[in-house]
Amino acid sequence: MNLLKDPWLPFSNQNGEIVYRPVSAIALPEVIDLALPRADFQGAAYQFLIALLQTTYAPGNIDEWIDRYQSLPTREALDQAFEGFTASFELDGNGPLFMQDRNSLDKESPTLSSSLLIDAPGASTVKSNTDHFVKAGRAESFCPDCAAIALFTLQINAPAGGKGYRTGLRGGGPLTTLVLPTDPGASLWQKLWLNILDREHWQYPEPDPNSFELFPWMGPTRVSDKGQKTLESDVHALHPYWSMPRRFRLMFEEGGSNCDLCGRESGRVCRTIKARNYGNNYDGPWTHPLTPYRRDPKKPAEPALSIKGQPGGIGYRHWESLVLMDTEGSGNLPARVVLDYARKVDESRHDSISLSRQARLWVFGYDMDNMKPRAWYGTQLPLLAAPQADQDRLLDWVRDLVGLSRDIAWQLRKQVKEAWFSRPSDVKGDTDFIDKRFWELTEDEFYSLLFLLGERIQEGNVKRIPPDLAARWYKHVRQQAVTVFDQLALSGPPEALDMKRITSARNKFLYQLKNGKTAKNFRKQAGLEDATLEQEPGETANP
Ligand SMILES: [Zn+2]
Repeated sequence: MNLLKDPWLPFSNQNGEIVYRPVSAIALPEVIDLALPRADFQGAAYQFLIALLQTTYAPGNIDEWIDRYQSLPTREALDQAFEGFTASFELDGNGPLFMQDRNSLDKESPTLSSSLLIDAPGASTVKSNTDHFVKAGRAESFCPDCAAIALFTLQINAPAGGKGYRTGLRGGGPLTTLVLPTDPGASLWQKLWLNILDREHWQYPEPDPNSFELFPWMGPTRVSDKGQKTLESDVHALHPYWSMPRRFRLMFEEGGSNCDLCGRESGRVCRTIKARNYGNNYDGPWTHPLTPYRRDPKKPAEPALSIKGQPGGIGYRHWESLVLMDTEGSGNLPARVVLDYARKVDESRHDSISLSRQARLWVFGYDMDNMKPRAWYGTQLPLLAAPQADQDRLLDWVRDLVGLSRDIAWQLRKQVKEAWFSRPSDVKGDTDFIDKRFWELTEDEFYSLLFLLGERIQEGNVKRIPPDLAARWYKHVRQQAVTVFDQLALSGPPEALDMKRITSARNKFLYQLKNGKTAKNFRKQAGLEDATLEQEPGETANP
């Protein structure tokens, strides 16, 4: 099967129809999305297509980028761009095979193809029955289409896999952030193209389809049995899109069977694979254009680390780290494609059709606990691409808002526990849900204010956060916090409630909301007079 010619990816049309087509279907205006059978495959398939476009069809400069964003290419134009690369995208056969070792790994004994799935139960998890994603024995036969995307998904996300089984280039379980248009009905082409970088801004040598510095499967593997490293300087600039930390060969057999992943019947199936350790040992300061990183500003010599999936998920408190660069303070390095979107918006201002400052940010990845996945996480956040010149100020303003809610969330958890228990500091167990409810209740208002801040920031060079918007936030988060406190503190059977303890905790909470250091600083920072905040939350209500 050839991944540039054969119909191996499921595309969905405007009318909801799902059709398996060749990759050039991304040029069809009626195609609006992909429809892979698993969420991690869906994220990987987007990355496959972005990688393919960046490698074979990258625009020379921003004008060409804009032209191609506005009008879809023809399928013929894409096929022509892919033409020279087809030999590098064979999944089975005698030559080099996509994302597989050049060595046939004959001496290795076969293992189940399900070990390609990051959430597949290993021997230990089958025994302890913690395999909550894939039920043991349920994913045995993969059709070639699913085998191809499973292989790619593992190579780009590879967690630590035991002795010599190397971790992915971005570290195990990296977050990926992609820029999407606001309209979910936009063409798949636009969804992909927003994540393509132009070659005037990112200069690299012409990609050579036969080079193993670009496609590691095109040559012998850089074996790492003595700890040998694969460094950024060893390979082509686009190698991170095609990184291959693991050594595999897929074993295909004839004989019809239904694929355990997509459910379709297939004449050829992959039930086993061969694997060997000591593949590419990615080390050093790698950055991947689709992943956010963080550098410790106190240790500038150390490489930046990719941001990983987190227990508790991603919310507006993480927004700044995914969107706004801050090399001095927090060390945030958002994904290159996200930073570049703001530049594209700035530069398209002079064009006949300008890009919107508002878009969506799709954030996804595994939340890994070393080798074991805790969960797959995927969400979309509003993206505001502020003018590049104003981003530092926006960062200060966003920090003012989030700093206040962070402090309130902390106080809220503390005082709800005081209301519930006579010795709250002894309480064991997970109380994250207390803050979680508060974060959820304040999320919509945060993004409403964010877009308003985005408009104000362009109106003039005011340093301070606009007081009216700050006051709106100040009132909103305090009101929501008191609501959550009252709901939670008074939940439970009436006979278990200690009203004296609840009232005391509530009063302490209200006092902190008004007189705590963060609250006072916020008012000072925003220039809020006490008169604008006459109505204190909870003052009229009695628990
Ligand atoms: Zn399948």
